Amino acid sequence: MPLNEVESFSKSHPDTFFSTGIHPWEVHNADPSALDIFEKLLANDKFKAIGECGFDRNAKASFKEQGYFFERQVLLSEKYEKPVIIHCVASFNEIILLRKRYNPTQNWILHGFRGKPEMASQLLKHGFALSYGNKHNPASVEITPIDQLCIETDMHNDIQIETIYRAIATLKNCNIDELNAACRLLKLYVC
Ligand SMILES: [Zn+2]
Repeated sequence: MPLNEVESFSKSHPDTFFSTGIHPWEVHNADPSALDIFEKLLANDKFKAIGECGFDRNAKASFKEQGYFFERQVLLSEKYEKPVIIHCVASFNEIILLRKRYNPTQNWILHGFRGKPEMASQLLKHGFALSYGNKHNPASVEITPIDQLCIETDMHNDIQIETIYRAIATLKNCNIDELNAACRLLKLYVC
């Protein structure tokens, strides 16, 4: 959704919380002034997280341009104390290097993670949280501590979040309340 429509949409949905970000697919349409509008939204308490933002090798914008907007959003994440939800396609090494460089206080959540346990364990070791949707690698879920685990439907409105919660809770051998509590620890209100 374009940034200028986000605020009016949020006003018409008083009981809903939002995440807002400049997605790598949209970076080629954004100019630095978009960050000013974006920052005004972030000051609003209805916006609980920043994202999706990040890197995608298939996006139109260059990697350098994507990096410019991602790093600005990281700085805003620290300023407004809101976690970052990261869209990352074939760019895990870059995102790990950036996390090392910024050493953020806020959570960096890799959304829609479908990778193998080897990659999951590397990311977890560097302090990332991993967010799992309907398609996930069960072995990666199994090694993800629940306080570094999020659950999402992403854009799949036909799938209930409860269905994914149940699948993840079964893999983690825990109940849904424990997963909910862990998600709140991440300061993300996903249900
Ligand atoms: Zn994404």
